[in-house]
Amino acid sequence: MGLIVQKFGGTSVANADRIRNVARIITETYQKGNSVIAVLSAQGDTTDDLIEKAAEINPKASKREMDMLLSTGEQISCALCAMAIEALGYPVISLTGWQAGMKTNSGYGNARIKRLEAERIGAELDKKSIVIVTGFQGINKFDDVTTLGRGGSDTSAVAIAAAMHADLCQIYTDVDGVYTADPRLVKNAKKLEEITFDEMLELATLGAQVLHNRSVEMAKRYNVNLEVISSFSGQPGTKVKEVVKTMEKSHISGVAKDKNIARLALVGLADEPGIAFRIFSLLAKHSINVDIILQSIGRGNTKDISFTVQKTDMEDAKKLLEENRSSIGFQEIDVNANIAKVSIVGAGMINNPGVAANMFEALYDGGINIHMISTSEIKVSVLVDIEDTDRAVQVIHDKFYGEFNSDR
Ligand code: ASP
Ligand code: MG
Repeated sequence: MGLIVQKFGGTSVANADRIRNVARIITETYQKGNSVIAVLSAQGDTTDDLIEKAAEINPKASKREMDMLLSTGEQISCALCAMAIEALGYPVISLTGWQAGMKTNSGYGNARIKRLEAERIGAELDKKSIVIVTGFQGINKFDDVTTLGRGGSDTSAVAIAAAMHADLCQIYTDVDGVYTADPRLVKNAKKLEEITFDEMLELATLGAQVLHNRSVEMAKRYNVNLEVISSFSGQPGTKVKEVVKTMEKSHISGVAKDKNIARLALVGLADEPGIAFRIFSLLAKHSINVDIILQSIGRGNTKDISFTVQKTDMEDAKKLLEENRSSIGFQEIDVNANIAKVSIVGAGMINNPGVAANMFEALYDGGINIHMISTSEIKVSVLVDIEDTDRAVQVIHDKFYGEFNSDR
């Protein structure tokens, strides 16, 4: 018995039957003597549909009004779910982000949670009500509705779990848990029983779409007991925690891909101090996030710097650099959107020097060319041609998890 936060994603609440299924999961948890706070996403493709609707009216709509619109999706699923629970005869109340006291900064469209003023939720729980809260939204200091960025309901759930000191935060979704690779793509992908916060954070950031990366960051910071679980299968999910028991023996916990990137290269830069600073401070000032950076050794008096950005930032980054060509001082700029990033992640690789070599061997055997490499303590990422992405994931996965090489 305790306080459990359960988050249900868009597919889990997509229609009336599924909402009834969610109501069943929530009430079964409540029936066992737990207090339950459920956090819901909008039904199915509702958020995408709302974005399309807005574009029909005004493609340049203000971010404030976009948030006003997008926040409605979650309000619908929460009210419907509360009605389904009412029909089952349980005490329940649904609350919007502002009723629940979810205070954010003013960043419409990508707001950060500042704090949860939890009096209302607490009072409803004291009355023994099941509390349903809209995910993805909050309220800023102007009393305006904000949203947390696409996929943000996970973050809402973890924030509520952290603030309420919940015993468990379950993220219910349409997959059974966290897999060693996308199970829709890689047939022999395995479900992980558990994974560390750090690994999950890398995987979430690298394109595994199970959890919003900010939710993992927050779960780690507040040590939230987190679990990813299917709302359909009834099977145990994947536990996300600080330390896992299999960490010693396993080298990697997953292979991820990200096709949403582009590479820019500045050729013929002066080989002198301050160049990288000029380039990347310029991009940072314009909120363009840079990922992998590679600088060549100086030849003659020049060097090259290549780096990756999100595909949507490619044109802006190029334009910005061209506008500042004379102050930065480069001969040529080259862009390539036809690339993808494939990564392996694993806390075990710190103590196992051969892991990166195994990955490169798998790519070599598959005849896949590597354009750039970047590593951290627990991950290795490579850039490959976009056509090679899925095959790269498969051959790398086979290398680490093939029949004769089962790692976990
Ligand atoms: N409904 C929002 C989205 O589609 C938030 C979420 O589902 O987490 O991005
Ligand atoms: Mg999601």
